[in-house]
Amino acid sequence: MSSNGLPKLLAEPSPGVADANGNIQLPPEELQQMEQALEQHFTAILRILRIDPNDPNSADTPRRLARMWVRELLRGRYEPPPRCTLFPNRRRSNALVMSRGIEVRSVCSHHWQPIIGQCVIGYVPGEHIIGLSKLNRIVEWFSRRGQVQEELTEQIAEFLQGKLRPRALGVVLACRHYCMIVRGVEGDEEQAVMVTSTWRGGLAENTRLREEFFRLAGMELPEYA
Ligand SMILES: [Zn+2]
Repeated sequence: MSSNGLPKLLAEPSPGVADANGNIQLPPEELQQMEQALEQHFTAILRILRIDPNDPNSADTPRRLARMWVRELLRGRYEPPPRCTLFPNRRRSNALVMSRGIEVRSVCSHHWQPIIGQCVIGYVPGEHIIGLSKLNRIVEWFSRRGQVQEELTEQIAEFLQGKLRPRALGVVLACRHYCMIVRGVEGDEEQAVMVTSTWRGGLAENTRLREEFFRLAGMELPEYA
């Protein structure tokens, strides 16, 4: 304990930093160290908030929070990218391939509150196609970080564009931001869904293809699309 009665905090884990939605791959022992340091800091936070450490509902909260943030909610910051197995586009398909209803579970960088929603990814293959389950893993890898929805949308598209080299690519996210909902920000916050989209190749250039995207996605074409 230090002189102010708060637990003495461990030194910050080394090395380096990255943006909240960046990636900084760390070995298991570093993550363990990070979790321990975080538990001590959360103990101090509960103390500052004058929460009785003997309250049976809060006694283990610092440990639970530390584990949740390192191992779950910010996991994508510390893990390597998912392996993307590509297959040859043998039939030279030039139609739109779409995966919709991909779950988005993220936290906002600004308030550390949940961002929950769905992602639709559609692409026209070039030389390769990708297993659909890989799309979910890619969305998850980028979502498990402190995020800003606009940047999350771009990160997913950039990654796919680099790996898959499709002839057209569209990524659309529709999410609820719980920082608005729990804080009761003015407006119809429970209904407020934020939609972000980004387009590459044929989907950036061709309005008809973008209409096809929204038709397959079961979405109405918004004004801006
Ligand atoms: Zn927020």
